[in-house]
Amino acid sequence: MTTPTAPLLADGCAVDAAPRGTLPVLKERGQREVFCGLTGIVWLHRKMQDAFFMVVGSRTCAHLVQSAAGVMIFAEPRFGTAILGDRDLAGLADANDELDKCVRQLLARRPDIETLFLVGSCPSEVIKLDLSRAAERLNAEFFPRVRILNYSGSGIETTFTQGEDTCLKSLVPHMPAAPADERSVLVVGTLADVVEDQFVRLFDAMGVGPVRFFPSRRSRDLPPIGPGTRLLLAQPFVNETVRALQARGATLLTAPYPLGVAGTTQWLAAAAAEWNVPAEHFKQVIQPAADRARKAIDRYRARLDGKTLFLLPDSQLEIPLARFLHQECGMRLVEVGTPYLDRLLVQAELALLPGDVQLSEGQHLDRQLDRVRAARPDLTLCGLGLANPLEAEGLRTKWSIELVFSPIQGFDQAGDLAELFARPLERAERLTV
Ligand code: SF4
Repeated sequence: MTTPTAPLLADGCAVDAAPRGTLPVLKERGQREVFCGLTGIVWLHRKMQDAFFMVVGSRTCAHLVQSAAGVMIFAEPRFGTAILGDRDLAGLADANDELDKCVRQLLARRPDIETLFLVGSCPSEVIKLDLSRAAERLNAEFFPRVRILNYSGSGIETTFTQGEDTCLKSLVPHMPAAPADERSVLVVGTLADVVEDQFVRLFDAMGVGPVRFFPSRRSRDLPPIGPGTRLLLAQPFVNETVRALQARGATLLTAPYPLGVAGTTQWLAAAAAEWNVPAEHFKQVIQPAADRARKAIDRYRARLDGKTLFLLPDSQLEIPLARFLHQECGMRLVEVGTPYLDRLLVQAELALLPGDVQLSEGQHLDRQLDRVRAARPDLTLCGLGLANPLEAEGLRTKWSIELVFSPIQGFDQAGDLAELFARPLERAERLTV
């Protein structure tokens, strides 16, 4: 589908009539190659240590989560699958009764669970199993001991990072109201604990606070929200969550994402400006970490400088990554693809991209691969399923999912982020005879 204002160029492809002063966007609709939203369980269950994620799905869904999360079979994992069997799918058994039974068994065995997410999948959506009603019914039995929520992680019209967005959005109605006179920063989007701790130290030193994180380490500790809450986004894929938080009165601070020195500096500066932190004090606080980060990036810059990069749409991190790799590592951008272009969330990033970059939104796999083959970039950022075929054609690739699993935000991770892109190029050089 294209908007009526977008002139159609060919089947499923159109150029967006970009507002004056912004980059034109090639809109693509066609075959997609992405993981589904269940993938988010991998990092969400590590972050929220009192939550359990119960996928209501098929054996395929169970295999995906099990293999992606790589938990040993004898461990007590904090995710599992209530498997819909043939009788459920054919409507011969009452899937609601079966689900209630599974939940009761789980909660009887695991008193450590404080929040239970029922995660919808393609099969549960196809048979129209209403998980919101199931959550309501089960809450009547288990709340307040356990809060039961539901969200969709299905692969129907999603990309894999959307699972985090739908999960966080399900928590927003349960966040307490902040006192009317409280000003606070809410960092939205999962960050590794180590990165969170580094940011806390910087905010404390600047005198900005209270600063809270969403999601937090305990899902029961929901941060308060209100008109004094300023939202600072750690991830560019929390679109619906941000809108739900805005509807609760919070204000979004516009800033690039905290990737690299420039991104992290401007991200912190957005909060510092709200708290009227003097420029000199801000500089003093960030300088040591920013200097370290510059040095760390420099180690990889020579390998990346001048190299061409093609970013295929996958994780929604593509635009901030492209900005960092161009601005701080000197890479030349051939095309920056993103599954969705939500200007509310990437406004500040778009302003930092070079004026001649090709932006594309959505996926039309064949046409995008044709463009990759024609450009033969030095490096292609892509989904797991595309990496091996492209490598077989002599192209160097980087898995975009790795950028979601790795701590890459903040000054102390800037060098590691550059290294993640330098490594495949270095490996290629070593293998070249
Ligand atoms: S939710 Fe859909 S896409 Fe994801 S593993 Fe299950 S069946 Fe596959």
